[in-house]
Amino acid sequence: MIKLDPTNITRQVTEYLNEMKNIIKRGYLEECASPSPAINPFTGRRVTELFERGSALDETLLETLLTGTFSDMTSRYADLQDYIQTCGLVYYSSFKIHYELDKLGLPRTQRERERFRERYAARYSSSWFDRIKAAHPNYMENDEYFDAFTDAVEADLIKLNEGIGRIVNYSMLPDEQRHSIMNRMGVEVCPYCNRQYITQYHDGIKFKTTADLDHFYPKSVFMLLSLSLFNFVPSCHICNSRCKLAKGVEILYPYDRGFMDDARFKYVLAAGASIDSIIGGNTDFDIEIEMSGTGALHRILQNGVDMFKLEKLYQSHKECVREILYKKQAYGKAYQDDLQKLLEQMGLDQLTQHEMNLFQYGYTLDPEDFGKRPLSKLAYDVIRQM
Ligand SMILES: [Zn+2]
Repeated sequence: MIKLDPTNITRQVTEYLNEMKNIIKRGYLEECASPSPAINPFTGRRVTELFERGSALDETLLETLLTGTFSDMTSRYADLQDYIQTCGLVYYSSFKIHYELDKLGLPRTQRERERFRERYAARYSSSWFDRIKAAHPNYMENDEYFDAFTDAVEADLIKLNEGIGRIVNYSMLPDEQRHSIMNRMGVEVCPYCNRQYITQYHDGIKFKTTADLDHFYPKSVFMLLSLSLFNFVPSCHICNSRCKLAKGVEILYPYDRGFMDDARFKYVLAAGASIDSIIGGNTDFDIEIEMSGTGALHRILQNGVDMFKLEKLYQSHKECVREILYKKQAYGKAYQDDLQKLLEQMGLDQLTQHEMNLFQYGYTLDPEDFGKRPLSKLAYDVIRQM
C-alpha cells in the first residue's frame, strides 16, 4: 500500500465546493420543508439538525464535511464524531475473534476474548448508543451477545442513513465531476496494490478515467461521508470491487501513510535454490511480505495484506524480481564507475544517484515516486534486501 499525497485533495477544494455545496443545500432545504422529516433515532432530533448551528445551516460544517480531513470533522463537531464512531462500531464488527487475537499475538482464552470486545466497544464508543449498550450489559461475553448489541446499533444507523441520504448521497455527484476529481488527483497507480495503472484520458469531449473512485469508508455505512473528498481513493477496479467490498476490516488510510518500512517485500529462496537464484538466473524463490511492529499496527498491516491478497498476487511478479537481481549483479559498482568516467570524457554531466537508479533498474527508488510506476515498492524493497 502506497501513501497518497494529501495535496491531491487540497488543491481541488475550491472547485469541488463550487460544484457540490449548492447540491447539498438544495437537499437540506427540501428536507427542512418535508411534511414528514427524518428523525435521528439515536438523539430523537431531526436529521437536518446534524447540518445546523443554532437553527440555520452551518456553512462551515458543510465545507468541512465536503473537503475537511476526518480529524477536522471529529475535532470540531461533536455530532460528526458521534456519527463516525457509530458507523465504525457497526462496520468493523463482523470480525472473527480468534483470528483477531492471533494477529495481536494474544491467547484464545475467554478472558482475552472479553477484553478484545470491551476494547473494541471502547474504541468506537459514543453517547449516541449508550442506551443500547446499557441494554446489552453482557455484550462482551460471547459472539451472540456482541452481535445482538451491534445489530441493535446497526438497525438505528440504517434508519438514520435513510434520512441522511436525502441530503448527502453519492448519487448526487455528477458523473463529469467524478472524472474531474480523479483527473485532478493525478494518481497514476492503484495505491492499494501498486500493481495496476489507473489512467486518465481525454476522449475529445471530456476527461475520463479507467480508475474506480473507492470510498475508504464505504458509502453504504458511512452515508454522511459519501461525498467527502478525503474519503475518495482512486484505485484499480480489482482492489475496489473484488477485494474491498467484501470486508469491514481496518486498514491503513492512504492519505496518512503507506507500508514503508513496516511491511517489506522480500524474496525467500526455495528449497534446492542455487547461487543462480540470487543473481537473477532463475525464479526459484517465493515473494513474502515481512511485517515489523506488534499489536494494533501489525494487525492493520496484516489486514491490508489479506484484504488485497497482496502476498498471493505478488507471486506472479517473480520475473520482475529476477530481473532486478540480474541488473544488480550485471550493472554493479564497477559498471557504474566506468559509465560515469565515460560521461566525464565526453564532457557530459555525471548521473545523480536518482538517475543512476532509473538507468539501472527502471525505478528512481524514491518513496515519493512509488505512486508513479507499478511494482516500485517491490523493487525498492528487493534492492534494499540485497
Ligand atoms: Zn489495486
